[in-house]
Amino acid sequence: LDYSSYLKDWIRAVPDWPHEGVMFRDITPLLQNPKTFRMLIDIFVHRYMGEKIDVIAGLDARGFIIGSVLAYELNVGFVPIRKKGKLPYTTVEEEYELEYGNATVEMHTDAVKQGDRVILIDDLVATGGTMMAGYKLLKRLGADVVEASAIIELPELKGGELIRGSGLSLFTVCSFE
Ligand code: IMP
Repeated sequence: LDYSSYLKDWIRAVPDWPHEGVMFRDITPLLQNPKTFRMLIDIFVHRYMGEKIDVIAGLDARGFIIGSVLAYELNVGFVPIRKKGKLPYTTVEEEYELEYGNATVEMHTDAVKQGDRVILIDDLVATGGTMMAGYKLLKRLGADVVEASAIIELPELKGGELIRGSGLSLFTVCSFE
């Protein structure tokens, strides 16, 4: 059984959302089905269970869903990288460009320690801007980012090229042209 193509069929394509011309890749059917949810998490668990990993860092908000389960399974801690204004303690922030305007992500300054080996996770890589912002925050805090990980990659938007070109390894379960 080819897990990647099996799981791909559980990702719903929603045309013209959130605005016209965008084909939104919706992972809610994949999470809703207990079998595909387990298959998905197991792919990540098996990829990292032999590695020395200290922390899973999940990106707001779908990175929290898969990242927290992965952290639990690997018996390591989970830290959130949130959209600006949500974290209560002292933070570091990183601004990045969106299709329209800018966005800022934040992390607590004590979320990772110098030298912590971290997996950075989100649901999808489009332009790669979100993943790169998370990567920069983790590096600023002295973490050793082992790999960026996502369910979906959209090669057309070249996020994979940006991330891999920066020297960060990127793993994705499937891609949509
Ligand atoms: P990027 O920063 O351009 O790579 O966009 C990735 C971020 O936007 C991730 O946090 C995704 O959750 C979100 N995103 C962009 N497009 C989609 C999509 O088609 N489906 C789900 N999330 C998306």
